[in-house]
Amino acid sequence: MIPGDQSVSGPGEETPEPLKPSGVQVPGPQQPPSRPPPPYPGLLAWPEQALQERFVELGGRAFHARVAREQLLGKGILDYAQMTSLPARLREALPSEIPLLAGTSQRKVESRDGTTKLLLDFPAQGTTRGGGVETVHIPPLGSKRGLGATLCVSTQIGCPVACPFCASGLDGLARNLEAHEILEQFAQGRAIGELRRAVVMGIGEPLLNFENLTSALEHVHNLMGLGARKITVSTVGFPERLKRAARSQPRFQLAISLHTPDDDQHDELIPALRGTSIDEILAAGDDWFEVTGREITYEYVLLGGENDTMGHAERLIRRLAGRRATVNLIPYNTTRGLGYQRPAPEDVEIFATLLTEAGIVAPVRYSRGADGAAACGQLRMIRSGAPCRTIPAT
Ligand code: SAH
Repeated sequence: MIPGDQSVSGPGEETPEPLKPSGVQVPGPQQPPSRPPPPYPGLLAWPEQALQERFVELGGRAFHARVAREQLLGKGILDYAQMTSLPARLREALPSEIPLLAGTSQRKVESRDGTTKLLLDFPAQGTTRGGGVETVHIPPLGSKRGLGATLCVSTQIGCPVACPFCASGLDGLARNLEAHEILEQFAQGRAIGELRRAVVMGIGEPLLNFENLTSALEHVHNLMGLGARKITVSTVGFPERLKRAARSQPRFQLAISLHTPDDDQHDELIPALRGTSIDEILAAGDDWFEVTGREITYEYVLLGGENDTMGHAERLIRRLAGRRATVNLIPYNTTRGLGYQRPAPEDVEIFATLLTEAGIVAPVRYSRGADGAAACGQLRMIRSGAPCRTIPAT
C-alpha cells in the first residue's frame, strides 16, 4: 500500500485493538489518554497526502514526507534517528507515531561470494496468513565489483503455481504482498548496499499480483532511479495476463520461464498453466515484443535427466526459430525431498552449445550464494525446518 494506491487496506484494518474501548471511559487527569494505533503498518504504506498532513501535525513540513521516503529508499536508512535531513524534532517524534517498516527481518545469511539473503516476515491480514519472503542482494563479481548490486525481490507469500521442482510453492499461496511490502524489500536491499539492477525472481508469480507490483515499481523508478531497462520480471507467462501487461507501459524487461519445449512436460513442470500450450505462451511473448519493442529472455531450468537431453535442445531450437530471444540456462539448484537432480556439467555444456550453434544466445547462469540456500523459497524452508540442501555453484 503506497501513495495513490486505493486497492489496499486503509485505517482501521489489520491494526491491533486499541488499548481501551473508546467511549467507555474518559481518562481522568491521572490517566494518560490511550494512544490510537498507527493507521498504516509502515512509512511506505501511507498515502502521500495523509503522510504529509501527519508530518505537519508532528511539527514538520509537508515536503519532509518525501525526504523521509527518499532517505529510506534512496539511501537505505532504516532508522529515523539517522535521517539527518529531517529536523531533530521530527526525528524524535516519528518512531512512536509512524513505524518505519512494516516487515521484520527474521534472518540474514551472507554467502562466501558476497550474496546476502534476507528473510522478511510480513504480518497476517485479517484471516489471511502472513509469513516470510526472501529478498536477495547480489553484488557483482570480479571487475564489476563496486558497480552496485542486483536485488532479487518476492511478490507473494508462497506461490500458487506449484512447480514441482521449486521450494516456493510447497505450502501454496498465503497471500499477495502489498505494494508497500514489495517496495520495502528495495529499502532493505539498499540498506545492504548500492543497487544497480533488480530482478523480480523471488517467491511468487508476479503476473498474479501485477497491480501491486507495478505500483511498487513506479516508486522504485521515482525514488531510486531504477527504470525499465534495469528491472527484469520473471513469470511463467499466463498469455492473457501477459498481453494486458504489454499494454500497461511496463517499467521492466520480461523473462518467461519455459523449462521445456514439450507440452506434456510443460503441464507437469508448471501446473498452473496445465492446458495452455507452449505455442500460446510463445505467441504472447511475440506480442510483448511487438507492443513494447523489447526482447524477451526465456528461462530454462536444467533438471538432470528430465529436460536436459539433446532432443530437448533440438526441439527448443525449432520452437524458437525465427524469434529473437535469449535463453538463460539455469542448472537446477537441488532441493532435497523434491526428487529433481542437478544436471551433469557435460549435459549443460552440450545443451548450451547446441543452442549457441543454432544462433540462440544461451548463457549458463549459476545461482549465486548457493552456500546460503540461493534458490527460490529455500531460505524460508530452512526456517520452517523442512529439509533443504543446495549444491554450491560451480
Ligand atoms: N514465478 C516466477 C518467478 C519466480 S522463480 C517464474 O516462475 O518465473 C525464478 C526462476 O527460478 C524460475 O524460472 C524458477 O523456475 C526458477 N527456480 C525455482 N527453483 C529453482 C531451483 N531450485 N533451481 C534453479 N532454478 C529454480
